[in-house]
Amino acid sequence: MLSIISRFFIILGLASVSAWLAFDLWGPLGGFIAGFIVFSIPLLYSYLNLVRLQKFILLDRVESMPAASGLWDEVFSKLERLVRNMKSQVRAIEKQHERFIQAFQASPNGIIMLDDLDQIEWCNSIAENFFGILFKRDVMQRINYLIRRPEFVRYLNDRLFDEPLLIEQMGSGGNLSLLVQVFPFAENRRLLLAQDVTNFRKAEAMRRDFVANVSHEMRTPLTVMMGFLETVQTLDLDKAKKDEYLDLMMVQGLRMKSLVEDLLTLANLEANSQPAPQVQVAMPAILAMLKGEADALSGNKHVISVECDSALTLLGEERELISAFSNLVSNAVRYTPAGGAIRIVWHKDKDHGAEFLVHDSGPGIASEHLPRLTERFYRVDRSRSRETGGTGLGLAIVKHVATRHQANLLIESTLGKGSTFKLQFPEERISADLI
Ligand code: ADP
Repeated sequence: MLSIISRFFIILGLASVSAWLAFDLWGPLGGFIAGFIVFSIPLLYSYLNLVRLQKFILLDRVESMPAASGLWDEVFSKLERLVRNMKSQVRAIEKQHERFIQAFQASPNGIIMLDDLDQIEWCNSIAENFFGILFKRDVMQRINYLIRRPEFVRYLNDRLFDEPLLIEQMGSGGNLSLLVQVFPFAENRRLLLAQDVTNFRKAEAMRRDFVANVSHEMRTPLTVMMGFLETVQTLDLDKAKKDEYLDLMMVQGLRMKSLVEDLLTLANLEANSQPAPQVQVAMPAILAMLKGEADALSGNKHVISVECDSALTLLGEERELISAFSNLVSNAVRYTPAGGAIRIVWHKDKDHGAEFLVHDSGPGIASEHLPRLTERFYRVDRSRSRETGGTGLGLAIVKHVATRHQANLLIESTLGKGSTFKLQFPEERISADLI
């Protein structure tokens, strides 16, 4: 490629030669005009290319400029390559930036980026929900103007960011517990992370309640038992009285035993999140056994009937199923006054595979209690439950067994008219060759 100086001298040479030839032919004016024209052509061409360059720069289409010749072709193609590279670099940076934003948006945690004055530079939509902010509206607003909780403002001012801060009653419904922590980065920038710990806090509260309930349930029979023991130890009782006290102690001992047994059953059920195995369960035999137990518990004070469709074989864990069924049957006997009727049924259900139901003509349960009946230690009639040896865990066990068998526990009850407890098993839990 020729250098600019050589090109200049070539043009100058050509102009001089043309001027000299024209001078010979037409005199000095002819020579001047010929030299001027030859010298101006490349200038004009350069001017035209400059105009073209300006136009493509203004339209931001430098990379699609038409080809030129000579030096201008070199300039255009170099410029084109430069702009192309720059644009593809910018696109790559933009893509990476977009991916970062998408990653931050995908995070289950609230993320807010703050500048050196604690103004919001960016936040994800989870943070918007957690703190009731709107990025478009609140960008570059100071965070402490938007989150005005005193504990948060203090946390931000004190700059003690080593520990997270728990803020309760957040979110639009005021029902979220958030664990917030600020992490400094770059030059005086801060990243605020907020984690939703509502379920964790609920589980913690449930665990505390559970321990308090178990302690309370154990303490009552223990206190009664110790009272009897003290009496037996300190008083000189006759044999009949002593036997009476020992019998009463036995009742309290049995109450603690059934509580511990129910707790262990629940713990085992909760520890096992797998579906129950699909082993054939002999329903006619189980229903006969349930009837025997119910008669014994009732002391023949109730009319107890059993209906069993023996063609329906249930697939599940027999021990667990017996525990759930007998909880429902014993509840029916315990809560139904003498003279009442109890039906125990195992039959086909047109919507669901098959259904085990226990119907009683007892006192019924008010509708406001129904959603909470399967909570541990939830009792409608506390004294009746205790009097009849209830632990308050029976329906919680039934619910867990139902879940492990993909069954539905349905409770239908009307005050004064009795209750029906249904366990509805899906078709997959009924032996296929028999239905
Ligand atoms: P409990 O050991 O106290 O019977 P459950 O978990 O089995 O505990 O039942 C929870 C509560 O539901 C009982 O305390 C009782 O108030 C109510 N309940 C359960 N079954 C019946 C029923 N068949 N009729 C009336 N109330 C019932």
